[in-house]
Amino acid sequence: MEKIKMKTPLVEMDGDEMTRVLWKMIKEKLILPFVDLNTEYYDLGLLSRNASRDRVTVDAANATKKYGVAVKCATITPNKQRMEEYPELTEMWKSPNGTIRSILDGTVFRAPILINSIKPVVKNWEKPITIARHAYGDVYKSIDMYTSEPGECTLTFRGDSGEEKTLSVQKVDGGAVWQAAHNKDSSIRSFARACFQYAIDTRQDLWFSTKDTIAKVYDGRFKAIFDEEFETYKPQFDALGITYFYTLIDDAVARVIRSNGGFIWACKNYDGDVMSDMVSTAFGSLAMMTSVLVSPDGKYEYEAAHGTVTRHYYRYLKGERTSTNPVATIFAWSGALKKRGELDALPELSAFGENLEAATLDTLEAGIMTKDLTGLVEDGISVREVYSEEFLDEIAKRLAARLG
Ligand code: NAP
Ligand code: MG
Repeated sequence: MEKIKMKTPLVEMDGDEMTRVLWKMIKEKLILPFVDLNTEYYDLGLLSRNASRDRVTVDAANATKKYGVAVKCATITPNKQRMEEYPELTEMWKSPNGTIRSILDGTVFRAPILINSIKPVVKNWEKPITIARHAYGDVYKSIDMYTSEPGECTLTFRGDSGEEKTLSVQKVDGGAVWQAAHNKDSSIRSFARACFQYAIDTRQDLWFSTKDTIAKVYDGRFKAIFDEEFETYKPQFDALGITYFYTLIDDAVARVIRSNGGFIWACKNYDGDVMSDMVSTAFGSLAMMTSVLVSPDGKYEYEAAHGTVTRHYYRYLKGERTSTNPVATIFAWSGALKKRGELDALPELSAFGENLEAATLDTLEAGIMTKDLTGLVEDGISVREVYSEEFLDEIAKRLAARLG
């Protein structure tokens, strides 16, 4: 069989630990036998980031800007414990995802992969719910303080022009806690654009929720910017028959639970943090959650939502075989190849991505799965628990059959 050709390189970002092991297996078993793979490779493994003084992460993000599509393996974000584990680290390097997100100015969309034998906890959820979380500001960039005596707190803005604006926050008669948060027009606008663009790309309705009845100026600004930006996208929404729907966060929560899924829920930073954990848990497993970073000008970086699965890696280092779930990482590859195919007008490449996903789902529907999933399967369905390698071999068999 002739291998599928590519035009533009895909930006490939390798990573750490167990996911790095899976990365190599996925390429060898599922991609390289079928695709004449053309990637620009960046090693974002921790030691390579350290050796380049994290230059490699910046280069990989810039390459994504240049070529438009990237696929990323999970990476270690060093903390104190990692500094002890890797004494050669010269700095506690920042989260690569944070670095890439700030260079691409993107929004992260997370969606679960559904299979028939694992039902969501919410039984009316038939289709995936994608959460779009704004990743800048609010409580995550706020400052707070405690005061113990009676008094008044004020909030002052000093403009570069010299203009000042002061508000009284509150007069208190005893101990009190205070917090000041902000967001920026530019960041909210990028968030809105990325959401509208992604809704069009995936042909799904977009919901957006805030608490603008209470935070009239703050959340009101989010709503106003979304309304302004929607004007540009409305004709495309109309043409595709999809809708943009704004509602209060409490109303949204109730509607999401009663819904059948199949839409994108855009959330402010805190709401997205909390709700994405709720939605992903209700759908099943973190190992079945995909993630894509979309920039407002249409650049895409695909990855799994989970981390490097450290505990499995330590067992792997001891020579044990592990039953680590590669599905979300496979879908990162298929998502990136489909997008590359679409942008380069290579229908064979897009079809390959579709077939790779279908072969993975076929395998799961046949009851062949990794350990994390076997306990979630509905009663009465027989399952065979396999190691990662066997699981990938089973997918490869089905993929080869599909590709004829
Ligand atoms: P994690 O790697 O997602 O793993 C948490 C636990 O979830 C695992 O120990 C495992 O449970 C289960 N799990 C996650 N993915 C799985 C899979 N594919 N198959 C089977 N089980 C899976 O998160 P973490 O332990 O908090 O973080 C580990 C490292 O990953 C950290 O260094 C962190 O910085 C990094 N991280 C990177 C990213 C990213 O690059 N996007 C995201 C998150 C975390 P059991 O051990 O019980 O089987
Ligand atoms: Mg969280």
